[in-house]
Amino acid sequence: MNLPLAGFAQIAEGLGHTLRPLLWCSATPSAQVEQQAYETIVGELLERLEQVKKGLDGVYLDLHGAMVTEHLEDGEGELLRRIRSVVGDAMPVVVSLDFHANVSPIMVELSDALTVYRTYPHVDMADTGRRAGALLNHLLAGHTLHAAYRRLPFLIPLTWQCTLTDPMRTLMEAVRSRVGGPIRNLEFVPGFPLADIHDCGPTLLTYADNQDSAEDTADALLALLVSREGEFRERLYTPKEAIAVAAESDPKLGPVVFADTQDNPGAGGHSDTTGILKCLIEHRVPDAVVGVVYDPEVAAAAHRAGTGAPIDVDLGGKSGFPGDTPLRATFLVKALGNGRFRGTGPFYAGCDMQLGPMALLSIDGVRIVVSSRKQQAADQAEFRHLGIEPAEHRILVLKSSVHFRADFEPIAARVLVVESPGPNVADPARLPFRRLRAGVRLRPMGPPFRPPPE
Ligand SMILES: [Zn+2]
Repeated sequence: MNLPLAGFAQIAEGLGHTLRPLLWCSATPSAQVEQQAYETIVGELLERLEQVKKGLDGVYLDLHGAMVTEHLEDGEGELLRRIRSVVGDAMPVVVSLDFHANVSPIMVELSDALTVYRTYPHVDMADTGRRAGALLNHLLAGHTLHAAYRRLPFLIPLTWQCTLTDPMRTLMEAVRSRVGGPIRNLEFVPGFPLADIHDCGPTLLTYADNQDSAEDTADALLALLVSREGEFRERLYTPKEAIAVAAESDPKLGPVVFADTQDNPGAGGHSDTTGILKCLIEHRVPDAVVGVVYDPEVAAAAHRAGTGAPIDVDLGGKSGFPGDTPLRATFLVKALGNGRFRGTGPFYAGCDMQLGPMALLSIDGVRIVVSSRKQQAADQAEFRHLGIEPAEHRILVLKSSVHFRADFEPIAARVLVVESPGPNVADPARLPFRRLRAGVRLRPMGPPFRPPPE
């Protein structure tokens, strides 16, 4: 699978190491991790680590890096502190992180090396695990890595972080090109801009054979990244503007994809807002597909009614997000599915999906893929499961910010990032931050953050 742990296991076993697996879990993100969940899972992990620690040479952790809990701003930093309290300071500890990690100084200090995805869409998750394995092996051979850490002075909106396009594409290449000689590993980490914490934002990490090389390279790369701040941009369309653009597009070139970024469940969205859907119906769009809408009640109603039956339901809009309401209408049930299928695109490659009962509904020219579990619309298999061939439709509305591009850009005539009410606010300058560092620009070339009065 395309997961860091899979890549790590492959390289570590190839190098002849014996693995002592402890625990692995994940969730579709939304708001803070509950304190009880954090303490239960971390408690179990530490207990298992305690049991195997005598025979260990090193520790590898497959973490995200932007975890905020009810009681901690830096969930991973605290986890590393507790792991050190079990294994001590001398044990090599290497961590792989997501591209959206908000890396804190504590995370750098308490690990021997951090390595981070370099692609968004994240098609290199397994590769990052392999890199972590190589770094751990380097440490086990007796070498030391000296780290330097820098923060960028601005946040980068999610949709501007895509590494398929500039400036991110060439910035990532520029950073990678500096590896060599005493410089062992370099990471430019764009971060998760929606977290209201002190350490939110992009960081730069350098690892070298000596501290001077690490610091000098960090300074040079930071200057390069800051010098290109003005190149970040991405237009946001209203649903109406996007429909007008799609109407002008030649159908022979493939579908026009609308990225419903503000409802992206991978970034904490509920995956059920109805803004764009209502606009499609209102404008009598002849052919559009919307997915994946999370609504277990409607999926159950469709399964009760059966294929070919009409159902009167309130679809979506159930999180109570301001400006969004359910769509009350009569839909026709076109197809049903059990939500079990395998990802086929580069991002979800090999991933066994379990989205619960699914249904394809239609209303006028619009078809809606409904699921009983939240999953980012980033793989064509999520549509084919219900008999929809994405390339054959005029408009595809995908609840995703960037990951969909891995599987859908090759079939799309155009991609438009569309703004409709939802919690994954596309422009961080509109977020009511309180705890961020004063002076950080809220987007490239944007206004600096001023903390509200106490
Ligand atoms: Zn990510």
